[in-house]
Amino acid sequence: VSVWSTVPQGPPDPILGVTEAFKADTNPRKINLGVGAYRDENGKPYILPSVQEAENRLHGQVDKEYLPITGLPSFTSAAAKLAYGADCAPLKEGSIAVTQSISGTGALRIGGAFLSRFYPTSKVVYLPSPSWGNHTPIFRDSALEVKTYRYFDKSTVGLDWAGMIQDIKEMPTGAIVLLHACAHNPTGVDPTKEQWEELSGLIKEKGLFPFFDMAYQGFASGDIAGDAFAPRHFVSQGHQIALCQSFAKNMGLYGERVGLFSLVTASPEEKARVESQLKILVRPMYSNPPVHGARLAGTILNDPALYAQWEGEVKGMASRIISMREALYTLLTNTYHTPGNWSHITSQIGMFSFTGLTQAQTEVLASKRSVYMTKDGRISMAGLNGGNVEYFAKSVDGAVK
Ligand code: PMP
Repeated sequence: VSVWSTVPQGPPDPILGVTEAFKADTNPRKINLGVGAYRDENGKPYILPSVQEAENRLHGQVDKEYLPITGLPSFTSAAAKLAYGADCAPLKEGSIAVTQSISGTGALRIGGAFLSRFYPTSKVVYLPSPSWGNHTPIFRDSALEVKTYRYFDKSTVGLDWAGMIQDIKEMPTGAIVLLHACAHNPTGVDPTKEQWEELSGLIKEKGLFPFFDMAYQGFASGDIAGDAFAPRHFVSQGHQIALCQSFAKNMGLYGERVGLFSLVTASPEEKARVESQLKILVRPMYSNPPVHGARLAGTILNDPALYAQWEGEVKGMASRIISMREALYTLLTNTYHTPGNWSHITSQIGMFSFTGLTQAQTEVLASKRSVYMTKDGRISMAGLNGGNVEYFAKSVDGAVK
């Protein structure tokens, strides 16, 4: 009998499973709105020209030696500046501990492990309900206890502000609160600036620990600083935040796995102690991070002309997504007169939209129309383009009527 005969079959990943079904479908009109990866106007993956330029500059110019445990310093310092802003006080005084990470997922995992080992007050992390599906296993595997707070109101397809505030008020002192910095996944629903300000005050009053996941900086609105408003505001109010960054979406570096984990500390001396422990965490997990993607991102972030070009390209991706929101809204509302209120399609932000479609409707869309999305009714707006948005809207109209 085999050593592994008792290993049970696990369930397929709910998001990557959608892609499998899509691939197997032979309908030429099929649409995949499951996975969160940007597609251009022709539905094709997009290599940013600024990334291509960085590739050209690096070609043949670099070796493949190991990076330090915490990554490429020219990348990590530029990435921290991108998130916190050049005028951030703890950044200027050298009090932000950083380590390069294996994209956003790796940043969350390092953060979970660090808090599990060193955060003195609590081992409980509260996630918004719903949240990105991977948050729960990431924090559970980091030996933290996962709980949730109310976030999304199904009846308005918007923020459950009252529920969120009440749940935060009832959290035990010192608990960890996970916040999506912008473009909440899967709902596309974010607090307003005023609501962030109120949250900052409340979280401080309660002595909670704010842990930000920022996977979509710039990609949400097209504005790098605007999308970082929440973590920057919290830091300006004296919060010692944890922050996870990903360059998957805003540089299209999905498979290169480029990210950053950082912690705001009280002083350069404290930062040095925290970074020494980050190294002790990382070393037995993967020794040191991959080099190529960090070099690409670092080249772009450290060259003013290339940075400006990249900013324009980020804006271009965000604008295309926003224009698809408008096209979809107009088709449903004015062309097909589809029953229901669809204004959330344009008020939601970022890559995803929570359509409000039911699981039964998503199943009909897949089997009858070859339109694929996750069963919670979430669509990746980036999968829509001028060539398929009408077919999609008509399909939704049919499923709802
Ligand atoms: N956090 C959120 C909320 C996300 O949506 C994603 C990407 N789907 C990530 C983190 C991490 O992605 P990656 O590891 O590819 O950077």
